Amino acid sequence: MDGPSVLFIRNGTIVTPRVVRPDGAVLIADGRIAWVGPAEQAPELSLAAQQIDAEGGYIAPGFVDIHLHGGGGADFMDATPEAVRTIARCHASGGTTAFVGSTVTTSWKRMMAVVDVAEEMTGQDTGGAELVGFHIEGPFLAPDQIGAHDPELRRDPQDVPYEELLERGSGVKRITVAPELPGALELIQAAARRGWHIAMGHSNAVGDTVLKAMGAGCRHVTHLFSCTSVLLNIRGKKSLGINEYALIYDDLTAELIADGHHLTGELAALVIRRKGVTGCCLVTDGMRAVGMPPGIYNLGDLTVLVEEGVAKLPDRSKFAGSVATMAQLVRQVVNHGGLGICEAITVASLMPATLIGIDHRKGSLDVGKDGDIVVLSSDLQVRYTIAKGRMVYSASSS
Ligand SMILES: [Zn+2]
Repeated sequence: MDGPSVLFIRNGTIVTPRVVRPDGAVLIADGRIAWVGPAEQAPELSLAAQQIDAEGGYIAPGFVDIHLHGGGGADFMDATPEAVRTIARCHASGGTTAFVGSTVTTSWKRMMAVVDVAEEMTGQDTGGAELVGFHIEGPFLAPDQIGAHDPELRRDPQDVPYEELLERGSGVKRITVAPELPGALELIQAAARRGWHIAMGHSNAVGDTVLKAMGAGCRHVTHLFSCTSVLLNIRGKKSLGINEYALIYDDLTAELIADGHHLTGELAALVIRRKGVTGCCLVTDGMRAVGMPPGIYNLGDLTVLVEEGVAKLPDRSKFAGSVATMAQLVRQVVNHGGLGICEAITVASLMPATLIGIDHRKGSLDVGKDGDIVVLSSDLQVRYTIAKGRMVYSASSS
């Protein structure tokens, strides 16, 4: 779906997301936001402008998903431009206009092939959401918190010449590391020096190990409450886990898979209330089966089962990623967590954009930023998704 260079979206409540304003309008010109404000003060439009009627719903910034594996039948691990385009279009239907593609634990060679495709596709036209970079999730994960990653291919940082990886990529670069592994702190320091966004996750680290990781430059928790350590009693002394530290420290941000399975809307909303919207973001951790029917799918080199709205290991012992879109997460935290629209939109757009350092061009309805917009109905269903001023999803034509 193509569009003209001027797009006027009107008759909706604008969620910037700092400000909520009824009867608002947004003007996009040449792919960027050119004007935002009350509809009656809108600039005069040329005849060529396309108009979108939000029909009293919400006009919000497009969602930014910083932890996403796949969708529409494709996986980032397929390592093809077509897979990236399929994922990008699939998640545009859930209001996402920018995403970071995640790897899963695999061979080093295969992972580097995925990184190569990520470099090739970052910032390119996908016909959907924009790929803004990659997230290395595995192999540096703890064996006892491996989740739905292949335990055979897990590695300790001290055994891997990771420098080659750290030099790669031109867009956003994220990595999840279990800080208790041999060599993990050196890896965290080396990645921090190169400007990577570093998260602790798939980890059983407690006490000082968590604090040392923060000191080394690790400031984020990958999918809080999923494969993250909890308070332990070690020889009569209580040691806090990642779950508790994430709630205590404001400078340890957390991502929340609020799909109603990994995290219920109530629990996600509790964390958001405790930490504030500046301490959290929603992520889908969506896998290949997003937008697809239940059944058997691959996640990296593993076979997983998709049923009842979530992916699981075949023995149903663990979840294996979500099949949610960002819009579903937003509905969860609003409808089941009681969060306000402003807060829910913030943790789906401005905060994730800020965490990965792309908030100068994405995440809010500010003049000059990319024309990335999601138009939602009053019950938060996606009606239109617009990426860089171009309509990439319309519910009426899907
Ligand atoms: Zn993941």
